[in-house]
Amino acid sequence: MIDDELKERIKSIVGEKNFTDNTIDLLSYSQDGSEAEGTADAIAWVTTTEQVSELMKLANEKRFIVVPRGAATGLSGGAVASQGLIMDFSRMNRILEIDTENLTATVEPGVVLADLNNELAKRGTGLFFPPMPASDSVAQMGGSISENAGGVRAVKYGVMSDWVLGLEMVLPTGEVIQEGGKTRKNVSGYNLIGMISGSEGTLGVITKATVGLTPIPETQLSALAYFNTTENAGKFIFRLFKSGLNPSAGEILDANTLQSVSNYTGMTFPECGAMILVEIDGDKEDVQRRLKGLEELFKEFKDAGYLLEYKLAWDPVENFELWQARKSALPSMTQIKPTVIIEDTTVPLDKIPVLLKSMEQLAKKYNLLIPCYGHIGDGNIHPNFLCDPRDPDEFARAHEAIKEMGATVLGLGGTVTGEHGVGTEKKMFMLAEHGQNKINLWERIKQAFDPNRILNPGKIFD
Ligand SMILES: Cc1cc2nc3c(=O)[nH]c(=O)nc-3n(C[C@H](O)[C@H](O)[C@H](O)COP(=O)(O)OP(=O)(O)OC[C@H]3O[C@@H](n4cnc5c(N)ncnc54)[C@H](O)[C@@H]3O)c2cc1C
Repeated sequence: MIDDELKERIKSIVGEKNFTDNTIDLLSYSQDGSEAEGTADAIAWVTTTEQVSELMKLANEKRFIVVPRGAATGLSGGAVASQGLIMDFSRMNRILEIDTENLTATVEPGVVLADLNNELAKRGTGLFFPPMPASDSVAQMGGSISENAGGVRAVKYGVMSDWVLGLEMVLPTGEVIQEGGKTRKNVSGYNLIGMISGSEGTLGVITKATVGLTPIPETQLSALAYFNTTENAGKFIFRLFKSGLNPSAGEILDANTLQSVSNYTGMTFPECGAMILVEIDGDKEDVQRRLKGLEELFKEFKDAGYLLEYKLAWDPVENFELWQARKSALPSMTQIKPTVIIEDTTVPLDKIPVLLKSMEQLAKKYNLLIPCYGHIGDGNIHPNFLCDPRDPDEFARAHEAIKEMGATVLGLGGTVTGEHGVGTEKKMFMLAEHGQNKINLWERIKQAFDPNRILNPGKIFD
């Protein structure tokens, strides 16, 4: 609980205009992109590392909880606080340096991901920062590193932690530490960057990040194909990744998702088990050559009777059109039910068709709609549980089905979260996924970083 005296001390650190305890402000900060809800006692917009450090020291001394918050697009409840102080980074958002010789950018945590790429384009660097989640137009660097977010191009370019070279971090006890820098290799000491990326704001507060950049590919072209069954789409996935075509994205939409997109956009699709969309990037000639290679693969599957139809995009306009169904997938579902609970299960590649089948069975068993789409190269499938919270029975069925989904995914050798993190929303699966010994180790790690449990407690595990 933050009392009036403490509020004054917080104000003296961040300044009057960077503090609020107004009820409406607190309410508008009571959620993120998940179902989690909670109301903090106050919000402070930090602008410097020194302020973050001072606040953490104060929180330690007075034992109040601090929850770091980026753009709150998180889908697992990580940025939601039910007491204490929300530390907001949206005003600590400067791009500090773009170094075109070392191919790095150094940024404050509140930099919006797309703003970095826009700035790189504006300065004509020919470089980009690749690991963009679909929320990149709002999600911030600090939140995205903390969630170790990835995007549709993770199959070729990896996730946030693959691009973080250096971090400045404030420990929960207030000390400032630097880890890494601009070097591409660094095996000096424990890999704290690996540990902090994906730690969901529970081990330290990121105040600066140096990330790698890479040349923008000359072109990107795509192709899509409709498969008669999900099993046959699954067979294509192995062939695609063994083929050496090195796609920059590989997406799957199941029949229920295509139906949802069709209802929403009026687009029509052949009756099929699943659609697969593949993107290839690189220099023009090479992309054309690999696209032809992809066509050969499609023909082989068509001749075998597995593939119904395919389309290739030979120019950027056609490419844009091929992506429209995928881009409409999530918006289309919000037209069916007011709540879309987006899961981010991840399974070994050979288990994708099994997972899709089991989601169909789950939908029947619980009388729900669970359209699925996802990133085939990572085995990362999003089952979307459509429900209406005003219908308590349906809402309860959706949550029962999610529990069963967790058990299914773990049984397939997968994980309940490949993208969105654990937060509060997936804590219930942690014991089954990791076992007590590992949770005991997490507990000791948390204790070493945060002896007074003041930084985002109750996230990932209790
Ligand atoms: C429409 C939509 C699409 C999405 N698409 C994707 C996708 O393609 N891939 C994907 O991986 N995710 C996706 N997400 C999830 C989400 O956007 C990502 O997790 C995102 O990177 C979170 O960034 P944020 O700034 O919103 O962080 P927040 O939600 O504000 O915070 C996330 C976590 O980071 C912590 N945190 C925030 N800032 C700091 C800091 N400076 N230091 C330490 N901890 C901090 C918070 O405490 C919290 O635990 C999507 C979400 C939405 C709503």
